Amino acid sequence: MALIVQKYGGTSVGTVERLQHVAERVARFQRDGHQVVVVVSAMSGETNRLIALAREILDQPTPREMDALVATGEQVTTALLSMALHNIGVPARSYTGSQVRILTDSAYTKARIREIDDSRIRADLAEGGVVVVAGFQGVDEQGNITTLGRGGSDTTAVAIAAALKADECQIYTDVDGVYTTDPRIVDTAQRLEKITFEEMLEMASMGSKVLQIRSVEFAGKYAVPLRVLSSFREGPGTLITMEEGDMEAPTIAGIAFNRDEAKLTVLGVPDTPGVAYKILGPIGEANIEVDMIIQNTGEQGHTDFTFTVARGDVVRAREILEPVVASVGAAELRDDAKIAKVSVVGVGMRSHSGVAAKMFKALSEVGVNMQMISTSEIKISVVIEENYLELAVRTLHTAFELDAEPEDLGADK
Ligand code: ADP
Ligand code: ASP
Ligand code: MG
Repeated sequence: MALIVQKYGGTSVGTVERLQHVAERVARFQRDGHQVVVVVSAMSGETNRLIALAREILDQPTPREMDALVATGEQVTTALLSMALHNIGVPARSYTGSQVRILTDSAYTKARIREIDDSRIRADLAEGGVVVVAGFQGVDEQGNITTLGRGGSDTTAVAIAAALKADECQIYTDVDGVYTTDPRIVDTAQRLEKITFEEMLEMASMGSKVLQIRSVEFAGKYAVPLRVLSSFREGPGTLITMEEGDMEAPTIAGIAFNRDEAKLTVLGVPDTPGVAYKILGPIGEANIEVDMIIQNTGEQGHTDFTFTVARGDVVRAREILEPVVASVGAAELRDDAKIAKVSVVGVGMRSHSGVAAKMFKALSEVGVNMQMISTSEIKISVVIEENYLELAVRTLHTAFELDAEPEDLGADK
């Protein structure tokens, strides 16, 4: 007998029929003698629909009301799934995050889980029931409803698995595992049998939204065995492992990309100590996250300073910087939201020189210009013009020999 936490994403619970299909799978596990906790997302499109409704009323609703609103999406699915389980004779109970008591901090729309009270879940499991928990949400010390950021149901599932010391946390979604890159962009992408936590964290951080970043961090920290699988067809999926990549493993595990980036450049900045702080300090104070930063070598006392932020933050960042640019005596402020970031990720690159050279050569051969470059131990990222994104991803996928042979191509992507 095993204790399994299963999470079903929006598409997997998108219709009543699909919910019934999920109920069948859960029932199968239960009849095989396993204890099952199910975490569900809102039905596909629901969270976006709710956000759009709010925006019809107010441009900037307060984060507290936003969370109260979007948390309803998951509550609907938990109750419907419980009913679908009852319908096939499986005892089940639905819980909101607050009912379980998934205690979070009070950072609305991006709250962090502090503690999970597992007593109700354990009691229900002991009685032979299935426990259905709303993903993405929690409650703060004051009893306010909070949410964990987009894609947060993954994190709910992993956190519950950690609290219960579950044997496995299974993330069921609309692809049958983690691929070498997004299979919706590259049809020769291949499913990975396994990927290390480190690589998965880097892939997620660089834009592969198949798992929320925090869920991977959590799984790594608490050693939760984590697997990504398809809710539509049987298969082994992809195991996220604690092992170091073996020697045989390819240098590159995958290619991630992110369109949600914008670039700001301050031209003609006086090249004096403290200037970077004067520019980035106010950005940080406004809680705008900065990703890549580049400062050119100074020439004749002046330099250029470029950094990237999330695309949704570029207007605000510009507003904050305009007075700063004037006060430090810089020449000009430019922004560009039509950029994208492409990253190659792999623990193998630690021991292989030449990964950067191979990447840059491949991109130059198809005429893709790199605007910014940044590296870490296991990844290299470049910022390019957004129009070239798909070309760049395909080119790199081929250059690093990640393409599947035609006969290996899966059907369900
Ligand atoms: P869910 O609603 O189940 O949480 P998501 O849309 O959040 O599903 O995540 C699954 C999607 O992630 C896939 O449909 C796929 O387009 C995308 N994706 C991006 N990168 C990858 C990758 N490397 N491997 C698999 N899927 C990926
Ligand atoms: N429903 C939330 C979202 O769309 C959380 C999730 O699906 O994980 O972001
Ligand atoms: Mg998701």
